[in-house]
Amino acid sequence: MNQITQSRIVEEWSLVFNGYDQAREGIRESLCTLGNGYFATRAAAVWATADGTHYPGTYLAGGYNRLQTDIAGRTVENEELVNLPNWLALDVRIGDQDWFDEKTTTLLDYRQELDLRRGLLLRTVRFEDASGRRTLLQEQRLISMSDMHLGALEVKITAENWSGRVTIRSGIDGRIVNGGAKLYRKFNGKHLESLVAEVVGNDGAYLLVRTCQSDIRIAQVARTQAFFEGVFLEIPRTVIKEAGYVGQEFAIDLVQGQTLSMEKLVFLYTSRDYAISECGLEAHKAMARAGRFEAAKADHTLIWAHHWHRFDVVIQPADPGFKLDVPMLLRLNMFHLLQTVSVHSIGLDIGIPARGWTGEAYQGHVFWDELFIFPFFNYRIPEITRALLTYRFRRLGEARAAAKSAGYKGAMFPWQSGSDGAEETEKLNLNPRSQRWVPDNSYLQRHVGSAIAYNVWQYFQVTEDIEFLQFYGAELILDIARFWSSTAVFDDKRGRYEIPGVMGPDEFHDGYPDAATAGVNNNAYTNVMAVWVLCRAKDVLDLLPTMRRDELTRRLSISPEEIARWENVSRRMYVPFHDDGVISQFEGYDSLRELDWDDYRTRYGNIQRLDLILESENDSPNRYKLSKQADVLMLFYLFSAEELDELLTRLGYPFSHDTIPNSVAYYAARTSQGSTLCRVVFAWVLARSDRPRSMTFFADALQSDVTDIQQGTTAEGVHLGAMAGTVDLIQRVSTGIEAKGDVLKLDPELPLEMEALDMRIRYRGHSLDLQLTRDALTVRGHDHEAAPISLCVAGEVCKFVGGSTRVFRLRK
Ligand code: BGC
Repeated sequence: MNQITQSRIVEEWSLVFNGYDQAREGIRESLCTLGNGYFATRAAAVWATADGTHYPGTYLAGGYNRLQTDIAGRTVENEELVNLPNWLALDVRIGDQDWFDEKTTTLLDYRQELDLRRGLLLRTVRFEDASGRRTLLQEQRLISMSDMHLGALEVKITAENWSGRVTIRSGIDGRIVNGGAKLYRKFNGKHLESLVAEVVGNDGAYLLVRTCQSDIRIAQVARTQAFFEGVFLEIPRTVIKEAGYVGQEFAIDLVQGQTLSMEKLVFLYTSRDYAISECGLEAHKAMARAGRFEAAKADHTLIWAHHWHRFDVVIQPADPGFKLDVPMLLRLNMFHLLQTVSVHSIGLDIGIPARGWTGEAYQGHVFWDELFIFPFFNYRIPEITRALLTYRFRRLGEARAAAKSAGYKGAMFPWQSGSDGAEETEKLNLNPRSQRWVPDNSYLQRHVGSAIAYNVWQYFQVTEDIEFLQFYGAELILDIARFWSSTAVFDDKRGRYEIPGVMGPDEFHDGYPDAATAGVNNNAYTNVMAVWVLCRAKDVLDLLPTMRRDELTRRLSISPEEIARWENVSRRMYVPFHDDGVISQFEGYDSLRELDWDDYRTRYGNIQRLDLILESENDSPNRYKLSKQADVLMLFYLFSAEELDELLTRLGYPFSHDTIPNSVAYYAARTSQGSTLCRVVFAWVLARSDRPRSMTFFADALQSDVTDIQQGTTAEGVHLGAMAGTVDLIQRVSTGIEAKGDVLKLDPELPLEMEALDMRIRYRGHSLDLQLTRDALTVRGHDHEAAPISLCVAGEVCKFVGGSTRVFRLRK
């Protein structure tokens, strides 16, 4: 490959860090995490341990465990994503020096590259020790997209200006406690019990551990082999066994200029896997059959090539276009999405956690963030969305029990969900500013259920998967609708239904100033979403084949009276407005005080987390008109103006064309951008009215993690919702794509910053290449057998026949 092409590939396909930066190691470890939708490993260096700079982390998708801690005078219980034994562990010693540690050695060069195209982590370190010996250390690493149980790395050591002995110690380190997220370090983090630690043959190590409460057994078999110029080295080794650690040590003499290569492969199996007899046995079997690193790499990169062919959103920036490295950053975001859930996740019982499997922030819990994430998968491999929706379906029982114990009907999904779908939100959170434990009432964000219903509906729109709807989706939507109907209380004076005591997406308001109980009344987002869900429940009943409808209504005891109530509630729900027509975040928001934003900005600089600031001043955000993130504006994010008009008109509220811009302007001035999701929503709602501002939000959202925009959170895991949201912004705002009813709508408008956009989508059995330029949209179909679909491009509907190509000229 010539030089120019190679550098172009690196530019568009690689996240590169030149130079070592101790303070940002944690951020790089999260950003360069490798994973395959089954397990993931942070990008800690092979020699690193959890020492304040590094935090090696290996996580099993959905691998949770529950522990109790006595803290602040009470016993708290936490369910966390468990950090598993560190299979990377590989130490190097030159001569009689200490084991290599980049923090105590003179570094001559340091380069880390995340090769997104091939799914590889590459690290090059040149160093000089106290005796003047210069050594080059090169690593390649992968978590296989081909074999979901396989992780592999290759380390090469070159003696640049010396001859002498190099010692290697390689093993599996199970002496792990969860400690990756500051907020939870005060909690008990010892989730693992070591069961078996033994060597396997001359070059292998086997560690079997179990999680102490959830009883997941995790088996890892690692093999470390050494080679000189491709020739296998049979070297005597010393077994190293310490409590929770097993490995081997060996030494070899290098002559100046020589390179020693080591290949380490690990197979990870758990007692949760399918098609196994016992996880330890499987791991041994897999290792016995394993080939060399290069073979594993070839299989892995092939699958990544397939993934990119399907998933890539290729943009051609205009000149002058984006000021950022947009193509690479978009790919970084897609890369993380695909590493969190991939085809390997289909069939696994996992949800999609807010921070991927890249760190321990939010304890690996699943929130509503899937609302931002699913559009990416829906239009590519909807089978992945389907798998993630079944995570919710399987937890309907828990959601029903939660609704019942709170005095409601139907299903009340938890704000934070882990293994069994029970509510996992902390009761208290430590405010690091005031060092006070503060009640966390965010479990009152009941709107998470609406997000699930919305996602089921969108999945169905894109796929027309009536079988899924019949046996999974319908029950979810019906029981969520039933929940909303049971929470709605009729107010005689107003003549409307109300939903009291909730929290909206804006987590800064968990109640009224000085009120004894938590929650606000009539959060506009919650109420409008409830109406939308009630309407869809009726649609679902209409869509179901008669037999299934009868079965479901009988099993769930849905009576005609209940359906009549859904209709009634969906026409008479209360939605608060300010006098000037702006939709009010919740009832009473209008009478709160204005915050002196300039004063807070001057005093604190970064005011994203105004809640923590105000609490530390013995004040409360509940007293002010301020928001952590988009709340009302979520309505404009999820619904087109026509859809919102329909919903509000149904409720008998006026909807003028000014409602959207006025509400956006009102909340833009009162939002602290305390969640990375928020910038996505702002970029979206401003996309076609205020491009420059929208672009600023987009740029900030796009690089939230690369810049660690929240100043300290990325080291504990990337923000998957914002990552997905930015990709979705490009895909949906540019093409105006919308799957509604039986029509695929496209309303293209390329942002000025782009010359062209290419992407491939899946819609109702069709693979469609979409190529968008300023003048034309070309739709190329691949599936000759698929039934024709209706396309609506820029307002004109046409039939699209499988396998054909249509070019739509766009009006300027
Ligand atoms: C946001 C939530 C989000 C959660 C997980 C919080 O900071 O306020 O909306 O679901 O992070 O990403």
